[in-house]
Amino acid sequence: MKQTPVLIVGGGPVGLALALDLAWHGTRSTLVEQDAGTALVLLAKAGTLNERTVEFCRRWGIAGEIADCGFPADEPRDTFFCTSLNGHVLEVERLPSARDRRPPPGSPEILRKCPQC
Ligand SMILES: Cc1cc2nc3c(=O)[nH]c(=O)nc-3n(C[C@H](O)[C@H](O)[C@H](O)COP(=O)(O)OP(=O)(O)OC[C@H]3O[C@@H](n4cnc5c(N)ncnc54)[C@H](O)[C@@H]3O)c2cc1C
Repeated sequence: MKQTPVLIVGGGPVGLALALDLAWHGTRSTLVEQDAGTALVLLAKAGTLNERTVEFCRRWGIAGEIADCGFPADEPRDTFFCTSLNGHVLEVERLPSARDRRPPPGSPEILRKCPQC
């Protein structure tokens, strides 16, 4: 038996974020994860971080690292949907470079691309 103020079940992005945020507020928590792989190697991943997520990253002091990882600030982040690498382009989803991206109403942050590696 173990006493804990907060029990978090699941070490995915939401559970990990909750544990971090509780700690930031000074509340201890215990996180349990059923998958041994997740416990040994951090498997939680995300390539696109929306503005609200970046606001949390700023609070946790890692927004700078998020902004600096991955692609050059002036590189557009368009997504191409193709039949193959040298095939036909079916659709292009446009996303300006981080330098040209503007925050949406209600957030001081911009969406960030943080490549998984
Ligand atoms: C291909 C793909 C790409 C994606 N790309 C992005 C992206 O770029 N950006 C983005 O923001 N989101 C992305 N997502 C979505 C993102 O992965 C999910 O929204 C996110 O993983 C949900 O987090 P979660 O913590 O709620 O759940 P999960 O990630 O599913 O984590 C739940 C955890 O709880 C554990 N668990 C479950 N039951 C128990 C139990 N009874 N006891 C103990 N542990 C338990 C599981 O093992 C798991 O580790 C992507 C999803 C996919 C599939």
